[in-house]
Amino acid sequence: PSSILLYCRRGFEKECAAEIQAHTLAAGISGHIRAKENSAYVVFVAHEPDALGAQAARLRFDALIFARQRIFAIGPLSDLPVDDRITPLIGAAAGLQRRYSTLWLETADTNEAKELARFTRKFERPFAAAAAEAGLLGGNGSAPRLHGFFLASTAAYVGYTPPDDSSPWPCGIPRLKFPRSAPSRSTLKLEEAFLVFVDRPETMLRPGMSAVDLGAAPGGWTWQLVRRHIRTTAVDNGSLDETLMESGLVTHLRADGFRYRPSKPVDWLVCDMVEQPSRIARLVADWAADGAFRYAVFNLKLPMNKRHEEVERCRGLIEERLAGKGGFHRLRFLQLYHDREEVTGFLDLVG
Ligand code: SAM
Repeated sequence: PSSILLYCRRGFEKECAAEIQAHTLAAGISGHIRAKENSAYVVFVAHEPDALGAQAARLRFDALIFARQRIFAIGPLSDLPVDDRITPLIGAAAGLQRRYSTLWLETADTNEAKELARFTRKFERPFAAAAAEAGLLGGNGSAPRLHGFFLASTAAYVGYTPPDDSSPWPCGIPRLKFPRSAPSRSTLKLEEAFLVFVDRPETMLRPGMSAVDLGAAPGGWTWQLVRRHIRTTAVDNGSLDETLMESGLVTHLRADGFRYRPSKPVDWLVCDMVEQPSRIARLVADWAADGAFRYAVFNLKLPMNKRHEEVERCRGLIEERLAGKGGFHRLRFLQLYHDREEVTGFLDLVG
């Protein structure tokens, strides 16, 4: 591949670009960025494609914050002939990998690009048929996925994702249905966070576990915990949804989330208070340093500027606090699909 193609939230191209530049620099891969404001994608063009191929495995997808998907690609193939777009696309795919498990045709997450979806839907069948005919499809689940990323009906990037090091959803977007009985739309943020960060739900989200939800009102996040039969202390001066209270699993405390501490450690801390990111990070670090939870999910509302730097500063605050503590932990940040001007943090304190 000559490029790394990254999908991001519209308006976060600068953050996404800064991030991939830092990562490739650390891996010793030189190249330049091709990005346009509000296009919802960023391209890193390697100066030496061979170096990118050799180092690709060192660039972990889950280390990225602002990328929804990360594709090793070539392109753009522009001026695809309207009467035979397939031949050049198949040629490109054949030059990248020998066999793929599946084919995804995608566009950027902007209104303009989404108008192409009608075209990609129609084009997918003949393209897949031609790819199968060329012996490119039919690989098992561990084979890479083949992606066609369309900029126009005659221009596309062609690339692949390793299934164990990429987003499992087309366009990097999990399509979640808003649960009708949930008290607020933010409920989808915690649902997505659980989908992305919790790799062993049967042990990490067990009935009978305990949780604290800071900034809980009206209760969308608490609803996700209660749905999993987790006893939850919901801290907020605002009111909680009444049906949620009827579950019998919720204790509502009208208190300051920055002062409240549980009398004994809980399994989960979740926090969606609207506050300065570094204040939230310090709070999570305080709890973590005392071993007051096992897992935490927390939302950081980003400032207008220096958004990437701000997240890295918050990461630093927490890492520094935990550095002297010994033991192993896992800290990740990701701008979820359901996050707006914000990112979500996940901290797992192992043992
Ligand atoms: N996660 C909630 C849900 O899904 O319904 C929405 C939370 S809302 C974005 C932020 C909440 O944080 C507000 O209800 C606000 O009252 C609460 N909040 C802000 N500062 C707080 C503090 N210092 N202590 C407790 N709650 C706080």
